[in-house]
Order: sequence, then structure tokens, then C-alpha cells
Amino acid sequence: MLQLRPNCEWCDRDLAPDSVDAYICSYECTFCRDCVQTVLRNVCPNCGGGFEKRPVRPARAHRPGVSLQDQPASTAVVQSRFNAEQIADFVAGLEAIEPQRR
Ligand SMILES: [Zn+2]
Ligand SMILES: [Zn+2]
Repeated sequence: MLQLRPNCEWCDRDLAPDSVDAYICSYECTFCRDCVQTVLRNVCPNCGGGFEKRPVRPARAHRPGVSLQDQPASTAVVQSRFNAEQIADFVAGLEAIEPQRR
């Protein structure tokens, strides 16, 4: 099940479960739209993959047992283990390649 993480891994902005500004890579590394567009340039600093908009889990159950109430968002804050220079170097090497060709 998708982990709905509570913050941007780079700028630490809150990303509520219903945020439309949350982006994830295939490993659920989670960043805000601003960081994805300006700092990361659609390159996940952890895996090199691209990002997609994080889906919003329904707040209320429309089928029994499946909703944000039944499977709540994660509260574990994740922060990047890389610094700005390391990320810039990594991004520079990959941003010109489309995610599906990396
Ligand atoms: Zn951010
Ligand atoms: Zn990633």
C-alpha cells in the first residue's frame, strides 16, 4: 500500500494526505511540487527515477474498509540524506534523459 508521507523530503513542507502538491517516485520518495520542478527537475535524488502526482486517498470509505480512516497516512517524517551540491550533481547527470529511458 502506498505510504502517504507527511512532508517534503527536501524543504520539509507539510504535505497533508489530501495535498495536490505532493509528488512521489516509484519508491514513494515524497517531495512538493516546487522542489520537483525547481530543485530536482523531475529526478528523484534517491533513485534517479521521475515523479508523478501522488494520488489522494478517499477520506471516507466508499467501499468497506478502504479509506484514509481505515489506512491512515504515515506520520514518519523523512529528510534527505543528501546536501544541495550532491543533489545538483546527481540531477545534472540525469535530467536530460526522460524518466522512462533512465
Ligand atoms: Zn519541497
Ligand atoms: Zn526515488
